[in-house]
Amino acid sequence: MKAIRVSRFGGPEVLKLETVPDPKPGAGEVLVRVKAAGVNPYDTYMRAGGYASGNPTLPWTPGSDAAGVVEAVGSGVDLKPGQRVYTARTLTGAYAELALCGRGQARPLPDHVTFAQGAGVWVPYATAYRALFQLAHARPGETVLVHGASGGVGIAAVQFARAAGLMVIGTAGTDAGLELVRREGAHHVFNHRSPGYLQQIRDLAGGAGGGVGVILEMLANVNLAHDLTLVAGGGGGRVVVIGSRGAVEINPRDIMGRESAVLGMVLWNVTERQAAEIFAAMEAGLANGTLRPVVAAELPLAEAPEAHRRVMESGARGKIVLIP
Ligand code: NAP
Repeated sequence: MKAIRVSRFGGPEVLKLETVPDPKPGAGEVLVRVKAAGVNPYDTYMRAGGYASGNPTLPWTPGSDAAGVVEAVGSGVDLKPGQRVYTARTLTGAYAELALCGRGQARPLPDHVTFAQGAGVWVPYATAYRALFQLAHARPGETVLVHGASGGVGIAAVQFARAAGLMVIGTAGTDAGLELVRREGAHHVFNHRSPGYLQQIRDLAGGAGGGVGVILEMLANVNLAHDLTLVAGGGGGRVVVIGSRGAVEINPRDIMGRESAVLGMVLWNVTERQAAEIFAAMEAGLANGTLRPVVAAELPLAEAPEAHRRVMESGARGKIVLIP
């Protein structure tokens, strides 16, 4: 089969399309013929060799999020060849024609969800759910700011929050991104590149009463200090740090006075029980249409280097996926 292989850490050019032996499913394993593979920012951190949560052993095929059809199964697996599935991690990598998955990593994909959409389910939606509900314990009627709402995680968070009855404020850096965030369910949108937008959010949320209860932060090294002055005062405000690409200086007094909480998260930490809850929420939302992964671009598998360049650029409008 053809697969993207990384033999040394480096820039996007180290992603090479190579021919490698087809994986074979053992007991409890599923072989998936990949129709689309999702590109996540962490794939690029791993490719570069600087991932804080751990780098892969080389040679390595990136990707945890694929969608396709079951090609073959090992003993003890209840999925059937030909069945449509999405993956939540794989054993051999998603940027490939075939991906081997362990027990529970391949999950049924509803017929109305395209393969390209299915490749944008696990990391974005699981991250959004964990941040919003397992960490921030967001409640209906609260106001949430999705700070960076136009990308994979942000759109997932907007859809989850809207369906759960929160007042949703989302930010993006382009007009097209703002339009998308509004279309996907945000009540209010702001451009995180326009001067004064933080004050406008403060005025809006204060006017609605209670201020911003929850902030989901995609770029903490830029925004955390501001978030701490934006989150609701009087106790109970939560900021969840989802993404950060560097250091930031904060004033601890902004947390003290408000009695707010800053929570960090990494999806790798989910326990089996938490993952079961996440799957149940994601799959209910996919089935009833409240969760609708948005595909920004489909590129051929060989263009993985270009996909890695694009995912790190501004102007997000959903997921970039690779088509083998
Ligand atoms: P993505 O699809 O590339 O989207 C990036 C988002 O960040 C876009 O909405 C982008 O908006 C926004 N952004 C850019 N500049 C910003 C600013 N100054 N303030 C606020 N937002 C800004 O990435 P993703 O998949 O959604 O992931 C988002 C971040 O979370 C990444 O850093 C990723 O590594 C991290 N992440 C962490 C976990 C975890 O377990 N902790 C899991 C998944 C993702 P525009 O392009 O419109 O400017």
